Amino acid sequence: MIEVYLGLGSNLDNPFSQIQQAIQSIALHPEIKIESVSSFYTNPPMGPNDQPDYLNAVMKIVTEMPALELLDFLKIIEKKQNRKKKIKWGPRTIDLDILLYGKLEINLPNLIVPHEGLTQRAFVVWPLLEIAPNLRLPNKIWLKEIAQKLDCHVLTKIK
Ligand code: AMP
Repeated sequence: MIEVYLGLGSNLDNPFSQIQQAIQSIALHPEIKIESVSSFYTNPPMGPNDQPDYLNAVMKIVTEMPALELLDFLKIIEKKQNRKKKIKWGPRTIDLDILLYGKLEINLPNLIVPHEGLTQRAFVVWPLLEIAPNLRLPNKIWLKEIAQKLDCHVLTKIK
């Protein structure tokens, strides 16, 4: 089984229920087992700031699904939850990312793992640290070392 970490984010149409809905859809997949889900964190938008705050969470799953198949599945959930806007860093009902896929480094045109933003985003690193305090990235750097360099005060834990 491969240990996979996913990132979830939303800032439209009741973000709390959007994230819960996505977790529910992931839980229903017969080839995926959810191991843990982080708290939910509110956090100011990264791109244009004339948009609502984001709600973010991460989860750990185990699966044998190939990474691209998993990505396709996540895109189906995004579509189902009505994600339409394609503005970079613009508002969205749901954003699902593959943060880590075992210890693999993937560099395909449509899939980059570890996720490109992972090490710069407090809203990914701190929730990850909550569920995986002893995580090491494929490049052998400890997640806790990365977290120390990122300001967690912008985040508010809500659940
Ligand atoms: P975004 O608008 O930020 O959700 O980006 C969506 C696109 O990023 C998707 O069409 C994916 O093909 C691509 N992508 C590249 N790497 C990843 C990743 N690790 N997780 C999810 N999407 C990815």
